[in-house]
Amino acid sequence: MTPAATYTGRFAPSPTGPLHLGSLFAALASYLDARASHGRWLVRMEDIDPPREIPGAADTILQQLENHGLYWDDSVLYQSQRLAAYQEAIGDLVDKQLIYFCQCTRARLRTLNGIYDGHCQSQKLLTTDSRAIKSSAIRILVPDLAISWQDLIRGPCTENLAKSCGDFIIVRRDGLFAYQLAVSVDDGYQGITHIIRGDDLLDSTPRQMYLLEQLGLSIPAYGHVPVIKNHDGDKLSKQGFAPMVNATTPGTNIERCLTLLGINLPTDLSGASVEELLPWAIKHWSRTQIPNVPHAR
Ligand SMILES: [Zn+2]
Repeated sequence: MTPAATYTGRFAPSPTGPLHLGSLFAALASYLDARASHGRWLVRMEDIDPPREIPGAADTILQQLENHGLYWDDSVLYQSQRLAAYQEAIGDLVDKQLIYFCQCTRARLRTLNGIYDGHCQSQKLLTTDSRAIKSSAIRILVPDLAISWQDLIRGPCTENLAKSCGDFIIVRRDGLFAYQLAVSVDDGYQGITHIIRGDDLLDSTPRQMYLLEQLGLSIPAYGHVPVIKNHDGDKLSKQGFAPMVNATTPGTNIERCLTLLGINLPTDLSGASVEELLPWAIKHWSRTQIPNVPHAR
């Protein structure tokens, strides 16, 4: 087996807006980790939440990646084309009697402080076409067990889903497949072996590991980089109206992200193009040099 076959990474943005510095940073971290490992790097568009999406954002994101020299392998996978696979996964979980309808009101859920109490567990979903009950979410039963992984960047991590979130949602009450389900099915489908992403998704990791296991899919290695915060200590996000990266200064943008990743460029690369910066950064990439809390200026 060639080294390339042992590593497949991915960047999986939602087309809810163009890339801002925080999402470029996450893309670059996963790209560098993949390329430094002689691995493949895929891009997957997580476009299964139409109410939150912005027309044209998917194309904009892909142009921004290319503009920054972050070229991906294979063709882009669009989650909107994968609904049959998610439905099939639901069927699998029905067979295992692991999922149930939840009709709890938002008001009731608010009283639970984010840890679902299993109130609707008796409403087991026993066939895939029994979604006669409208406006109900579907939850998956979780075990009262510690789920542990060796995070590639943070070191040992452990979480007990029963204590951190309880049975979680895999189909939303508006009928859309939940993020956790779609991501897990596609990470399995694309043979992803390494996931480098922002630590705002740290809570999602044990849920995805659990889903992958239940679906008989292999579990990748995970590494979580710190998310970039603004001066007020808030995560840079589209929801927080972080500005899109400046298309006219790709080299400067990459330089900024490299600095935030703990890669100190030699002075002769100051002001260099992305074509010069990226090969150097791949050579000098190290998971252990990433500072704990990068701050955007
Ligand atoms: Zn419920």
